[in-house]
Amino acid sequence: MNMNANDPKGPHRKRWGVMMNIETDRVDELLELIWTLRERGVSDLNQLLAETKDEEARSILRMMIKDGLFEMEGNRVILKERGEEKAREIIRRHRLTERLLSEIFEMSEEEVEEEACKLEHILSPGVTESVCTFLGHPPTCIHGKPIPRGDCCAKFKREMKPLVIPLEELGLGERGRIVFIAPRSHQRLDRLSSLGIVPGSILRMHQKNPSYVLQIGETTLALDHEVVKDIYVKKVE
Ligand SMILES: [Zn+2]
Ligand SMILES: [Zn+2]
Repeated sequence: MNMNANDPKGPHRKRWGVMMNIETDRVDELLELIWTLRERGVSDLNQLLAETKDEEARSILRMMIKDGLFEMEGNRVILKERGEEKAREIIRRHRLTERLLSEIFEMSEEEVEEEACKLEHILSPGVTESVCTFLGHPPTCIHGKPIPRGDCCAKFKREMKPLVIPLEELGLGERGRIVFIAPRSHQRLDRLSSLGIVPGSILRMHQKNPSYVLQIGETTLALDHEVVKDIYVKKVE
């Protein structure tokens, strides 16, 4: 009997395929962890092993080194070009999914986390671009972490009308409900919320030049372009 795993009709073909998928998901998760640790300034292997819940992490990491995804410099984990690229894509899918689930499906943060971890493995590049475009190419996830840019963000494809647009693109007299704010600093976020500029509030664009004048409730506000740039809205009729 032919037990060759390379035989497409062989009895092990299917099982092997499933095993490969599980392995791929775990590689994805470890790449994701390497990336997020690096954002926190951590590249130490022991710390990485301490944070992973995967008991076979060591052997999977070894396989990943063989596969050319990262290399070790002493105890430091350094992503190689291929690993960098793969990690970037996973992080991008994860963070875009977070936005999609919380903005559009209005899920709670816990629900979002659980679903995003599953969906990040199955979104195709095409769907990822559509989601990004649909959401107006958001710069950050719901936790304020940067979403790696994709081709769609650079090209600003307009075939699909984004649902969420930067506030600066709102026309004169138009109204928009704030969907999210992506401030470059926490002080700024505090200042904005003290002005009533929080997700859910409705703004009306009064003037764009020489400076931005917006109405929120009964209040008229003048805002710098620097600040306006951080605000994303959904148009309301
Ligand atoms: Zn996040
Ligand atoms: Zn994009």
